[in-house]
Amino acid sequence: MTDKTKRFPLSLSSLSEKAPRNGARSEPHRNASGKTATPQTATLNASRHAAGPSVRTISSSAASQGQTAPSHKAATHAPAAGNRSTPLVSDAIRKAMTARVAKQGVKDSKVLAAMEAVPRHLFMEPALASQAYIDASLPIGYHQTISQPYIVARMIEVMRNNSVGGVLNRVLEIGTGCGYQAAVLSLVAKEVYSIERIKGLHELAKTNLRPMRVANIRLHYGDGMLGLPQAAPFDGIILAAAGMEVPQALLEQMTIGGRLVAPVGDRHQVLQLIERVSKFEWKSSTLEDCHFVPLRPGTVT
Ligand code: SAH
Repeated sequence: MTDKTKRFPLSLSSLSEKAPRNGARSEPHRNASGKTATPQTATLNASRHAAGPSVRTISSSAASQGQTAPSHKAATHAPAAGNRSTPLVSDAIRKAMTARVAKQGVKDSKVLAAMEAVPRHLFMEPALASQAYIDASLPIGYHQTISQPYIVARMIEVMRNNSVGGVLNRVLEIGTGCGYQAAVLSLVAKEVYSIERIKGLHELAKTNLRPMRVANIRLHYGDGMLGLPQAAPFDGIILAAAGMEVPQALLEQMTIGGRLVAPVGDRHQVLQLIERVSKFEWKSSTLEDCHFVPLRPGTVT
């Protein structure tokens, strides 16, 4: 367990009791035809993977100790009924989810620890919280989805595999959605910037993250295709939505040695890694098939 993951500031007692949100409408996500072998579409895989090899664990209740709520308090304050698991139950389910992600090939222990620390179910509307830990992307409203656990972990692992031992000072995420991946990123990077183009989702992410008191995340409402020049350069950039190509502005906002991970394509998408080799040189490689919602220009109020 690293210092950083230990400090993840989750006040679970208050989070578990928060009222249902109005912002997120539940809308079905249209998956691709199911042709790709990628786990991003692997709703069907959910039951196939038993808990895999164990990984280092960080219970979210333990993680909350640095804040106001001691671990036993988190359990006591959890709602007795409803779809949200108690923190202790969700700790166990999240541990199984992380083991499954490890079994699917993610090896970076810091990423696995972060996946285990972030209470994914608290980023979903209550009606879907019971499905939060299955191996699938799920609707968060506005025709968008929270990314599948495996792909979240995989992209961060790839971004961290840099020449400085995984140190990430400043990272940028395009497509905040409900804020889940930003929360995971906050455990592996010093500063996280995240941009969302849909106002309602930007607000939803703020609502989700505020009670967690994550000090190193900055949320921006705007067109992520333009990047965030005022905060650049970034030594890691992750796109959570797929375009036909990676926007030039984002390439320009990478540090030398920086790594950008993005889904690219339309119906058939691949995960692409772009490394900035020098001021004028970028190296691109294709990793695996994936399936993401589209990257779109402009903003939605
Ligand atoms: N990171 C989220 C995934 C959200 S889905 C998670 O943790 O699960 C992808 C998001 O990208 C959607 O919310 C969508 O609105 C957003 N998006 C698409 N194009 C964008 C753009 N140009 N700028 C910012 N966000 C964009």
